[in-house]
Amino acid sequence: MKRRELLRGAGVAAVATGLAACGAKPAGEAGAAPTEKFVWKMVTSWPTNFPGLGTGAARLAEMITATSGGRLTVKVYGAGELVPAFEVFDAVSRGTAEMGHSASYYWKGKAAAAPFFCAVPFGLNAQEMNGWLYEGGGLELWRELYAPFGLVPFPAGNTGVQMAGWFRKPLAALADLQGLKMRIPGLGGEVMARVGATPVNLPGAEIFSSLQSGAIDAAEWVGPYNDLAFGLHRAAKYCYYPGWQEPGPTLECMVNQAAYETLPPDLREIVALCCRAVNDAMLAEYTARNQQALDVLVREHGVELRQLPDDVLLALRRASDKVLEETAAADPLARRALDSMQAFRAQAKAWHAVSEEAYYATRG
Ligand code: CA
Repeated sequence: MKRRELLRGAGVAAVATGLAACGAKPAGEAGAAPTEKFVWKMVTSWPTNFPGLGTGAARLAEMITATSGGRLTVKVYGAGELVPAFEVFDAVSRGTAEMGHSASYYWKGKAAAAPFFCAVPFGLNAQEMNGWLYEGGGLELWRELYAPFGLVPFPAGNTGVQMAGWFRKPLAALADLQGLKMRIPGLGGEVMARVGATPVNLPGAEIFSSLQSGAIDAAEWVGPYNDLAFGLHRAAKYCYYPGWQEPGPTLECMVNQAAYETLPPDLREIVALCCRAVNDAMLAEYTARNQQALDVLVREHGVELRQLPDDVLLALRRASDKVLEETAAADPLARRALDSMQAFRAQAKAWHAVSEEAYYATRG
């Protein structure tokens, strides 16, 4: 007999009543396995099963459903299926969905400090983001930021260093950025504005058509694995690196706080642990797939792979320092997030000079 319970929204967990109503015997003995069942919706900012991002969200949902023995079933909705890509935050905040998978830098208009927990230009790489969030005080700040919105955030994926983006024309010098219309979200977009470009924010699924039609001149999305999947090489020939704007962006799983508190402690722990597992699994996937995709882009599709000119990178770094400082000056929590992140970056930079970077140099 199927005992499906549709528990809508937060605070609804009348399970014993539900079981009694469909004729089942409630578990009365002490120590009996919990019988409460929850069905949650997860809205996302990605196309359903899009490589890495969408599949990461799907993997998280499957993992929670499986490890909870079906006591917490999570159903995933791609961008636009239940709510549009950029309404995930509001949808989970108001309880339309119990859970969301997205990127916190999309919400800088709601909370100035939000981008610090995804990507900061010239900031932390994936390894360092994990160190800062889990062990360096970052996650506590993130929880503090989201609490007034009734949201509990978890790191839940990372792409590793991204690419600088796709350009319809070659970028020879800083002057070529003047008036350039580029899809680039988060603080990276604000930095681009400072050096004369016009940033626009578009959900991933709209990038290809906008680039192909010439509505935008350039676009950053993620990197070879994802960009090949969207066919961005068919809309722009020049692919630039490195991804100064997103050196190790953390994806997020946000959970409606009231729904989270409705869960028994073991299910709460399962949600937290599955987020942590997906945070790791996604980075492994990008690490394994990016170069394979880049080979296809360059060898089969004739993509022009180029490094950003030095003067461009220098101007971007200087503009980033200003944007970060102004963001922090205007918002107390952004101030604390920037100070915390920068202190961690200084420590990580010193350590990585004699570990990661020193080791890379030995590989030749
Ligand atoms: Ca990106």
